[in-house]
Amino acid sequence: MAIPPHNSGPIAATLIPGDGIGPEITEAVVAVLEALGAPFQWDVQQAGLAGITSGGDPLPAATLESIGRTQLALKGPLSTPLGGGYRSATVRLREAFQLYANLRPGRSLLPGGRFENIDLILVRENLEGFYVGFEHHVAVGDDPRAVAMATGITTRREAQRIIRFAFEHALAHGRKKVTIVHKANVLKLLTGLFLEVGREVAKEYEGRIACDDRIVDACAMQLVLNPWQFDVIVTTNLFGDILSDLIAGLIGGLGAAPGANIGEKAALFEAVHGSAPDIAGQGIANPTAMLLAAAMMLDHVGRVEQAERLRGTIDAVLTSDNIRTRDFRGTASTRDYTEALIRRLKA
Ligand code: NAD
Repeated sequence: MAIPPHNSGPIAATLIPGDGIGPEITEAVVAVLEALGAPFQWDVQQAGLAGITSGGDPLPAATLESIGRTQLALKGPLSTPLGGGYRSATVRLREAFQLYANLRPGRSLLPGGRFENIDLILVRENLEGFYVGFEHHVAVGDDPRAVAMATGITTRREAQRIIRFAFEHALAHGRKKVTIVHKANVLKLLTGLFLEVGREVAKEYEGRIACDDRIVDACAMQLVLNPWQFDVIVTTNLFGDILSDLIAGLIGGLGAAPGANIGEKAALFEAVHGSAPDIAGQGIANPTAMLLAAAMMLDHVGRVEQAERLRGTIDAVLTSDNIRTRDFRGTASTRDYTEALIRRLKA
């Protein structure tokens, strides 16, 4: 990873509480990190709907400036209107800091679910594919929006960079295999280039990391039939977006899924879930995914022991204390769960 690990002393980091349940789960995460003795010194900034309210922009200049300075951010979920309205501030942040790698680990947290002992990592290309925003309508007759078109992009440079990232991540974390996921039988050029580059890069790691490839639809089925066959998956933006939520489903839902967006000059950590407006303000939101994102952030800055302690404490509270929020088949409020984590950390 690009940012050199800090091994002692406080570390400045930007904190974006976000929208909906964002402020509630952020408050919980900050309290737990404080009990853990995490080194972060927060610079609190706004984005999303809160950014519009405070700065007239879903991605205010002050937020961009803060992340530019700290190169490190923890972000709550941001609301984005469907269809029209403003562009996703999350997508804009990825572009602004060229956060090319989206890292989404999927690890089973709760026993007794449909799938146990899952531990796989999805690496998603974060800047290209169909998410570049090259979309337009074509008028036919008197219908100005009779046809909608989108252009996808794959560049050799980005494909190399993300696939190397996946192999390097596999090496650094003792993983054995990388699976390249594509749709080169239909999107022959767009994802064919990704596959071609993937096979080239794989040769550099021969003997150290095994490699195979899968068509995305077959991969989706295999993930449900036998997820344990996968170790690290690397794929394009849209496929990665979809498969990472599928993986979140395998491990107990969005409440368990963290994500990291990593670039050369900054890294941004977040929960995979959205702002959950349906439960906002009720005190029942699950902060686990954002806590696991904070653990990834600790790994990123070289505080691996604290990261492990945080993950271990979450496991203990969920499985030994059986204190869980409703989305995890429990009855605890956000506060009950947070207090249980803090109790264990301070014991
Ligand atoms: P969502 O993830 O917010 O909610 C889906 C379902 O999961 C809801 O029933 C919600 O209550 C539940 N849920 C999600 N997180 C939870 C948590 N931590 N604890 C308990 N329950 C939880 O998805 P959505 O409803 O499709 O999107 C809502 C908004 O979030 C939209 O504006 C969307 O654009 C935005 N969004 C943001 C991000 C991001 O910032 N990274 C990601 C996805 C969606």
